[in-house]
Amino acid sequence: MDDCLFCKIVSKEIPSTPVYEDERLYAFLDINPVNPGHVLITPKRHSTNLMDAPEEDVGSIIKLAKKIAQALTKGGAAGINLEMNNGSVAGQVIPHTHLHVVPRTVDDGLKHWPGKEYAPGEAETVAERIRQDLG
Ligand code: 5GP
Ligand code: ZN
Repeated sequence: MDDCLFCKIVSKEIPSTPVYEDERLYAFLDINPVNPGHVLITPKRHSTNLMDAPEEDVGSIIKLAKKIAQALTKGGAAGINLEMNNGSVAGQVIPHTHLHVVPRTVDDGLKHWPGKEYAPGEAETVAERIRQDLG
């Protein structure tokens, strides 16, 4: 993809700070981290997000996330969040698949999303729709 920032980072056309690379994946530091050590794992082959990424890329990303989470924990992280924003409404700014691996510290101020409540019977309707759409 000619005009994709992360494709340019993967190809080293734009500099970044790498932590891991293999034939399929590139992992580098987020330029504006939640905390130092906030890593982005991205497939080298362009896809937009989770919905169009090849399964092999998704599987490799999650396996590498575990390794990086273990390394960050070894380095002192008190916990780890994995976050993948898929679609602009979901907060995806860079339209090249990537997983955030975020090391957490006590009192770093990052907030979880607020939860809503289901109306009576709504959860079963919603779950049935998902089961059908899963095929
Ligand atoms: P998104 O909101 O798409 O899930 O996250 C994109 C992430 O990419 C953001 O956290 C942002 O800080 C990071 N980012 C944007 N531009 C650059 C860049 O040029 N270099 C690096 N290393 N990270 C970037
Ligand atoms: Zn790309």
